[in-house]
Amino acid sequence: MKLYSAGDKSKAICESCQELVETTFLYRDVPFDDGSGEVKDILASVCDRCGEVVAIPAQSLPAIRRAREKVEASLEAQVPASDIEVLDAAATRISERASVRHRKFLLAFYVRKMARDPQAGERLKHLFSEAKALRPKAKVKVPRKRLSFKVSHDFEEEFAQLAKISGLKKTQVLRGVVHEIRSDLVYPEHPASLPQLREMVATLES
Ligand SMILES: [Zn+2]
Repeated sequence: MKLYSAGDKSKAICESCQELVETTFLYRDVPFDDGSGEVKDILASVCDRCGEVVAIPAQSLPAIRRAREKVEASLEAQVPASDIEVLDAAATRISERASVRHRKFLLAFYVRKMARDPQAGERLKHLFSEAKALRPKAKVKVPRKRLSFKVSHDFEEEFAQLAKISGLKKTQVLRGVVHEIRSDLVYPEHPASLPQLREMVATLES
């Protein structure tokens, strides 16, 4: 990507001047993208003729992007306690300080991974039927527990997409994803995803 410095020259269409103009990168106060106030001293492309800000380079976008409320939806399901134990066992593999907050991280990682897989619909159906078929060895009644997360809009959309392509209910998708975590991260001695997950968690926790 191109990284601009103050004083750099460029060309852009200026809306005020209604034509292609020479511009200079300068520090200006720029409104937040939702208009709720402004950010001081942002590097912007400024029209040489009229002095209006005509463009914002990529490097200045995060600063003016008003942090939208990230938590927009909740995901809730009643699952067998053993599913939660799978998530927590996986959490102990990816973090030395494993706790309940790693449950959502793991689900988000695998939901995103599966959402990119064109075969995810079939795979989820298979995973869910495997999960459903698992029975405790002894006659023990496994209690059901509630999983509840505040999730981002992106997560919710990917999750809904998985439900759609698999034809499963949301709880069933969740159980399928947990089963994927069991076979991808918990059972293998050297899981392929482990180094990447550890790296991500270590970075997030640093
Ligand atoms: Zn202009």
